[in-house]
Order: sequence, then structure tokens, then C-alpha cells
Amino acid sequence: MSNVSDDGSNTTETIRSRHRAVAEEVIPDHTQLFVGGEWQDAASGDTFDTLDPTTGEVLASVARGRAEDVDRAVEAAWEAYDEEWSETSTSERQAVLDAIADCIEDHQDELAKLETLDNGKTLMEARIDMDGIVEQFRFFAGAVQTNRGQTTDEPGVSGRVIHEPYGVVGQIIPWNFPLAMVSWKIAPALAAGNCTVIKPAEQTPLSILRLMELIEDIIPDGVINVVTGYGEEAGEPISKHEDVRKLAFTGSTAVGKQVMRNAADTVTDVTLELGGKSPVVVHADADPEEAVQTIAFAIFANTGECCEAGSRLFVHEEVADDVLGGLVAAAEGMNVGDPLDDETDLGPKVSREQVERTMGYLERAREGGANFLAGGEPPEDETLDDGCFVKPTLIEGLDHDHEAVQEEIFGPVLEVFRWDDYDEMMTLANDVEYGLAGGVITNDLEKADRTVRDIEAGYIWVNTWHEMSPGLPYGGYKQSGIGRELSADTLDHYTQTKSVKYDLE
Ligand code: NAD
Repeated sequence: MSNVSDDGSNTTETIRSRHRAVAEEVIPDHTQLFVGGEWQDAASGDTFDTLDPTTGEVLASVARGRAEDVDRAVEAAWEAYDEEWSETSTSERQAVLDAIADCIEDHQDELAKLETLDNGKTLMEARIDMDGIVEQFRFFAGAVQTNRGQTTDEPGVSGRVIHEPYGVVGQIIPWNFPLAMVSWKIAPALAAGNCTVIKPAEQTPLSILRLMELIEDIIPDGVINVVTGYGEEAGEPISKHEDVRKLAFTGSTAVGKQVMRNAADTVTDVTLELGGKSPVVVHADADPEEAVQTIAFAIFANTGECCEAGSRLFVHEEVADDVLGGLVAAAEGMNVGDPLDDETDLGPKVSREQVERTMGYLERAREGGANFLAGGEPPEDETLDDGCFVKPTLIEGLDHDHEAVQEEIFGPVLEVFRWDDYDEMMTLANDVEYGLAGGVITNDLEKADRTVRDIEAGYIWVNTWHEMSPGLPYGGYKQSGIGRELSADTLDHYTQTKSVKYDLE
């Protein structure tokens, strides 16, 4: 097979060679568990393969952790907490978080490439992730200093409130933003003074392992412990562990509920960042061209694998034809292909299993009477046959109670509804079990404010999407979760409150 086709575009072999060359450059040397500051095989000696979703080739074999590995990690974390980390000052922890941020900044390019290989997101998207990751560590490096106690002083009453770390926390994360989710979890946990046992998703374990290689000399042994493995084998034991004092989970609502049930047995505090099915509301005064850009970004960024994706569009009748025409053109104009290629707009989904899941929803949508305005199938391009690709898809005509509308597809699929009665539209917009995010597109401040207030969700965008700033709390209403990340509030989730009353008589 030739490396380059006659017109200079990619061939299957060009894509494979490109990916193998980058893999050679960025795959971490260590793919074991990172426990107590050491690289260790799983107790069973077992491993699992992580695949490149663009080529289907194996990137690396990674240690397959199970309950006894989790036990070792929790023990190492407590040892680190008792012997060292609990004694650190806020300034010392601030310095560690800043040093991690510096280190990531220095290695952004290789970490972004690794993320693209393991997850399939485009290199441009992975680079944007890296900026946010650095920002996370820097934000919590600063926020450390705000985590102060309080005092109560009035005649005859003297007391103080201390915010103490839990000690050892368990953290479980998904595959859609692998290293970003690491930063959302580790930065506040460490800032608040905890040690952690963290489990990355089995689909994307590589970037956290490389991060550990990079920062192992910055963090004391045992402060961060990484147990790679499958959900039921390595995640479940973390969520059931008696010595884990706090759980933080990001992933699907179904697994989040299981984690919460497990946490109930030990009455462990839990933060959950779960799924979403977020509404995008377009008012009649919206500029169609600007609306198309915002909507396309809301649904197609990161191949639709965003918990906060705008996946249900409610567009006012008056602008519907213009907006939908523009969206079809945008979807059909997207370059679906190799995420390492700068020309690519939409990379593969993370795994074959996720493609099948998405295609299953699309098939049932078709049976349910959906009209496919765009996409609905894998790309015709044969060079992409080994990868996990789905075309950007727009669907109209489904009942709002169809499962494809109610459930999270987690792919580049937008369902469209036209409206002319605001109240009826808003009833539908809120008629899902989720409440993670939402958005409104209008130039009318009054309409914007009304819709912001009416959408039942934890994060609302006005004329934009996906932008998040450290300091603005992020988290869900309804079944999208409990707790908030990205903000000083997050430190509260990683501390417990102790009141002290003094007898001054
Ligand atoms: P998932 O729930 O299948 O898996 C998430 C993590 O949980 C993985 O590490 C997995 O191994 C682990 N896990 C699976 N079963 C487990 C069990 N029984 N006990 C303990 N751990 C278990 O989700 P996913 O498919 O990896 O990720 C996609 C989901 O994550 C989507 O629903 C998405 O909306 C959600 N998500 C939410 C946010 C947010 O901030 N709200 C951010 C990113 C992703």
C-alpha cells in the first residue's frame, strides 16, 4: 500500500505510520501501577491493552489492578498522609501544585500527542485541554491559601472552626478528558491536604501514567497513587474501601449511582459529576450564522464526547430554516479523520464499543421515525475503516420521549426541535433526568436572563459553549451530580469541618 495517495491525502498506511512514529516518541516507559512512589505490577501480574481508536492498533499493555492492589494503594496513601502530607503547610502544598503546573506546561506538546493517541481527540483539542489543566493546578495552588478556619467570638462564647482534610480520598474518572479529569480531581484534593488513590478509565490510562513519570520527584511518595484497571475490578473496590474517607467520581449516571450505593455502606462522603443531555435554546432574534457556529461547537467539539455537550437543540420557528440549513452545511463540511492531522475537525470516538453504542441509538432513532438531516453513519472514506469514526449527525422528527432524546448518546449527534411557544418549549427542555448544563442564543438580554433562570441545570452559557473558568463552580442539577468542581467551593468537598468550643471561665 502506498504512503500517500495520488492527490496527496492520507492513506491507511500514512495514518498508521504517523501514529506509530508518535507512539514511539510519547508512550510512557512505565505502564504499571504507581503505588507508594514505585512502579509496581498488579498482584496478579495481569495486564490489559489500550488501543489507538484511530488505527485499532495496541498502544501499550497496562497493569490490570484489582482489589488487593487497591488495598496496597490505600495503605500507601495513609502512610504518606500520616508521615508527611498531613504535616505540610499550605505554602508547601502550593509550591507542589505550582511545580506540577510548571512541569505540565513544559511537556504540553508530548502530553497532548499522547492524549490524541489514546483518546482520539484532535491534537488541537488536546492542546486546549493542556492549557486548562495547567490552569487547574495554578488555580488550586492559589486557592490553598483561602482555605482558612473561622472563629466565633462573643461574650462568654469562644470557638473556632477547623477545616481538616479527610486523609485518603478515592477518585474515579472517565475517558473523554483523561488528563483534564485528573487535574480536576487531584489539584483540589492535594490542595486541601489529602492523599489520593485514583483510577483512570481503562480506555485511556496513558496520560496519567506519563504525568506520574514526570512528577514523581515533585510529589512525596504515596501522595498520589494510580491504580489502572477496569471499573468493576479496580473502581468498585475503591468505592467500597473502608479506609477511603471521601469519594469523587466522574462518569455515567448509572455507575455514579452504584458508587453512591457503595459509599452508603461506609457512610462515605461522595461528589458525583455525571452525565448530561443539555438543551440549546435559540430565540427568534438570534443571528443564524453566529448561532450555527455556537451550536456546532456545542455538539461536535471533542467528537460529542462531552458531558456538557449541547445535544438537544430548540430553535425558534422564525430562524429554524436558516439555522438548520447552516448546521447541515457545517456538519457536512467537517473533516472527519486522523486526529493527528491539523486539517481534521472531528476525530474518532474512543472505542469500537462506543461506536456501536452510538449506532444503536441511531438505528432505534430511525425506527422511531427520525429524519436524518446529516450524517447517521460511519464515513465512507476507506482509510478510516480501522478507526472508530461516526459522521456528525443531525436528527429531526423524534418524539421528545424517545430514548435517543432522553438518554446520553455521548457522540456527535444533535436532536432538533422547532418551537414557537416558549413555555411549551421550556417544559420539554427540562424534561430529561439530567441537569448538567444548558445554553441560550439571543441578543436580547431580557430573554437571555429568563432562559438562564428557567433551565434546570448547573452551568449555563449565553451565546457561547464549553468555556469554563476556574472560579465558576461546575456541576449538575438533578441526576447530573452532587457537588461542584473548578472552584474554591471544591475545597469544601475535600475537607471535613471540626468545631472547637473553649471554656474561658
Ligand atoms: P463510566 O461510568 O462507564 O466510567 C467512568 C469510570 O468509572 C471509569 O473509570 C470506569 O472504569 C469506572 N467504573 C465503571 N464501573 C464501575 C463500578 N462498578 N464501580 C466503580 N467504578 C466503575 O463512564 P465513561 O463511559 O467512562 O464516561 C462517560 C460518562 O462520563 C458520560 O456519562 C459523561 O457524561 C460522564 N462525564 C461527566 C463529566 C462531568 O463533569 N459531569 C465529565 C466527564 C464525563
